[in-house]
Amino acid sequence: PAATPSDFIRDIIAADIAAGRTPQIVTRFPPEPNGYLHLGHAKSICLNFGIAVENHGRCNLRFDDTNPVKEDTEYVDSITTDIRWLISGWADGVLGEKPRGAPPSAHDINGTTDFIAEPAPAGTTDIEPFFTSDYFEQLYTYAEKLIMAGKAFVCDLTPEETEAYRGTPTEPGRNSPHRDRSIEENLDLFRRMRAGEFPDSARTLRAKIDMASPNVWLRDPLIYRIRHIAHHHAGAGWCIYPLYDFAHCLSDYLEGITHSLCTLEFEVHRPLYDWILKSLELPRTSPRQIEFAKLNLAYTLFSKRRLMRLVQEGHVDGWDDPRLPTLAGLRRRGVPAAAVRNFAYRIGITKFDSVTEAAVYEGVVRDELNAAAERRMGVLAPLKLVLTNLAPDEVYACEAGNHPQDESLGSRPLRLTREVYIESDDFAEIPPPKFRRLKPGGSVRLKYGCIITCDEVIKDAEGHVTEVHCTADLTTRRGQPNSNQKVKGTIHWVSATDAVDATVRLYDRLFTVAEPGAEDDFTTVLNPESLVTVAAKIEPALAQAPAGVAYQFERLGYFTADAIESTADRPVFNRTITLRDTWSK
Ligand code: ATP
Ligand code: MG
Ligand code: MG
Repeated sequence: PAATPSDFIRDIIAADIAAGRTPQIVTRFPPEPNGYLHLGHAKSICLNFGIAVENHGRCNLRFDDTNPVKEDTEYVDSITTDIRWLISGWADGVLGEKPRGAPPSAHDINGTTDFIAEPAPAGTTDIEPFFTSDYFEQLYTYAEKLIMAGKAFVCDLTPEETEAYRGTPTEPGRNSPHRDRSIEENLDLFRRMRAGEFPDSARTLRAKIDMASPNVWLRDPLIYRIRHIAHHHAGAGWCIYPLYDFAHCLSDYLEGITHSLCTLEFEVHRPLYDWILKSLELPRTSPRQIEFAKLNLAYTLFSKRRLMRLVQEGHVDGWDDPRLPTLAGLRRRGVPAAAVRNFAYRIGITKFDSVTEAAVYEGVVRDELNAAAERRMGVLAPLKLVLTNLAPDEVYACEAGNHPQDESLGSRPLRLTREVYIESDDFAEIPPPKFRRLKPGGSVRLKYGCIITCDEVIKDAEGHVTEVHCTADLTTRRGQPNSNQKVKGTIHWVSATDAVDATVRLYDRLFTVAEPGAEDDFTTVLNPESLVTVAAKIEPALAQAPAGVAYQFERLGYFTADAIESTADRPVFNRTITLRDTWSK
């Protein structure tokens, strides 16, 4: 397990605790349900849940669902599944879910009986995440309160006019002609907006701050807009929806979040976050927003919009395609949740944007799998090898250890038979220099079996090698007198009698360039070899392999039975990762 990280955010939190500013640390992870979670989100999840674990606090999963146009319950479900997978066995205890059936929120204008969730009681399994849309009524009440304080107004400018009035980063904006409406008129119009009297985009509610502010986010930002569309979670009761900046700080406040951790692009929003909380004169301590740099990973795209395009245009087979950096894709590919968490801790938290090298991610995955994955044998490009001194029904029992460094993982029986399959490239008729595998007249050890010597090469009419004939030295088996005899090479194999046919998908990087996002069109740099499918022979024990558990196919890499397509009769395996970095050579 990775050591507890230290970084500037954890330093701030430690200082807040030392100063007695927070009785309990409460963080949140706030995905918008408009796509699947990816490895970038995992960085944020591990930060938020990790801080809760380290401080005996809690972390809420909250769906930031204020834009019904792009959101859907499919994403709510996938995100919930992915988070449970990622934190399971590590941070389940701090997940601040609300017990099912709890009231969505209290609607008290002074915010004194706000909905603050407690962690679900021990043993509760029927728990559900938070939704910003559960606070719509209370957010509406806060918006009226802002109007009554003279700090918000209803604006009739069109979206284009609003944009034109906003100015540029170097030029100040202009006041809306509706800025000085009376409180009564604003309240009346806002209530009629809610009642559905106006069409989409006809009016907005805006905070009244400062059109000349150098920070464009403070130039009377929109806080409500009209959208006549039902909401996937809140139902059909609303036709006005709050914008992110208004909803987020108040949702944090309502849930008693102490530290609201977000990515760097929100740094310029922070003055607005603070302004809204301050303007409402709320009774409790306000949450504190702190920003950190996003994860960028070489050869990978993270934005949900771009991943959506890859899915919709059929460049990959769905959101859980094992080539995608989505958590659903990584899981299907066999990447353990622990590897994702170790990676998130390894890269650390800073304020500086950078691109993490692919080798860092791949190294963490290999380290985790090397320690955890049981060994098996499979042959990806089978070549038949006949042990001519064995009769067709002659069988020798062998024992194969499941892990070279971990005897507690046990062993399994294998059977050495007259016909076996070896990897095609473990045989060379005309061997290159230093070739340590099988060649005419040469000897190798069949792992867990015995030493064999090549006597004859059988070819078809075109000269392709179809069979290799060898003699087995049975005295070199384990427990036999010559078991310690040395040969230069050891190769993997499967018994042709016992082998199971399997489809194996060899996945590789989806893009051929390190920064696909920097291309005009990232679909022009897709790797045409990102998926190669082969017909393999695998040892019988693998046919029963549970989906999602990775095995090391000895000398080849790590593989996982596909959760959707694999069956015991027709196994389908996905390559999680190769044994070594094949790109840096
Ligand atoms: P995307 O750009 O991929 O659509 P998003 O930020 O719009 O991501 P959200 O659902 O809003 O997606 O993200 C939830 C949380 O995850 C936010 O707090 C966001 O800052 C964080 N997050 C998103 N992408 C990354 C990333 N690459 N690295 C770290 N945190 C991220
Ligand atoms: Mg977002
Ligand atoms: Mg987004």
